Amino acid sequence: MSQTVRTRPEGSERALSEAYDTALLDLDGVVYFAGGDAIAHAADSLATARAGGMHLAYVTNNALRPPDAVAGHLTELGIPTEASDVITSAQAVARLISEQVPAGARILVIGGEGLRVALRERGLEPVDSADDEPVAVVQGYGGPDLTWSRFAEASYAIARGLPWFASNTDLTIPGARGIAPGNGAAVQVVRIATGAEPQVAGKPLPPMHRETILRTGAERPLVVGDRLDTDIEGAFNGEVDSLLVLTGVTDGAQLLAAPPQHRPTYVDADLRGMLTGQPEVVEAGEGFRCGGWTATAGAEHLELTGEGEALDGLRALCAAAWTSAGEGTCALDGGKALARLGL
Ligand SMILES: [Mg+2]
Repeated sequence: MSQTVRTRPEGSERALSEAYDTALLDLDGVVYFAGGDAIAHAADSLATARAGGMHLAYVTNNALRPPDAVAGHLTELGIPTEASDVITSAQAVARLISEQVPAGARILVIGGEGLRVALRERGLEPVDSADDEPVAVVQGYGGPDLTWSRFAEASYAIARGLPWFASNTDLTIPGARGIAPGNGAAVQVVRIATGAEPQVAGKPLPPMHRETILRTGAERPLVVGDRLDTDIEGAFNGEVDSLLVLTGVTDGAQLLAAPPQHRPTYVDADLRGMLTGQPEVVEAGEGFRCGGWTATAGAEHLELTGEGEALDGLRALCAAAWTSAGEGTCALDGGKALARLGL
């Protein structure tokens, strides 16, 4: 990895929707909430970006639903989407498997319909039993009704020496009623039983990014996400720019403490940030200025002076925190400064 360490958010004179040809959008926490409802300003912002010529693609680590089901959900929310504009970790892992097994091979599936559709698309045959002569095992999120016997089936096959693949290893999955165990937790069950390690495709790993670029043909993509350790790290690993939105799981304190691979190119409140330019963060004496705010790194705290837009204050704080942390993680307390911004 030859990337320089990012020490502040970048500015952009042009609207991001004009400066980049394709938006690679995460779904949960970016376009819709865990319960399935659209996030404020998402549908309008995406419609405007698309009308301006930006290609929109949706990139999800969730392997349960096939692309046409995801596209149908988005279209219902007022975001018209074709199945071909949805890229899932099931597709990424199916390609990874197809590169390592003979054409038409049987694959033991522990997971849902999304995995089966993706395997068939690559000419592979999904099967349900370790006794069906599979040549590999693939595990993806199977929804709340996946039975314990499926983990046993995976374990039997892996113990016979079959290679093991996982769509993604997100430990949790958000739902309308709270946080539930995700595919990463299910993978952990099989890991405990077998002592084996799967090959993983999903964000932030390269197979997912490669799948996204192959399917969209993006030349100047912008990753748009809410999670630092999947979306933003995936963009970092793929060496493409990223926009963090604050509608999901990441708060200001986590952003200030981000190590280099978790620092986004841009940060904004929500998807309206795609439609505007981004302000410059400039050095100002000992600190950094953005809009009306100046941030400096003190001995124990991040200090903030001035007034103006809260997001500009956060951008200035990022510059102070990331510069002081360098290649590490900023340990300075930004709580008071963030409270002043209401973040
Ligand atoms: Mg998300």
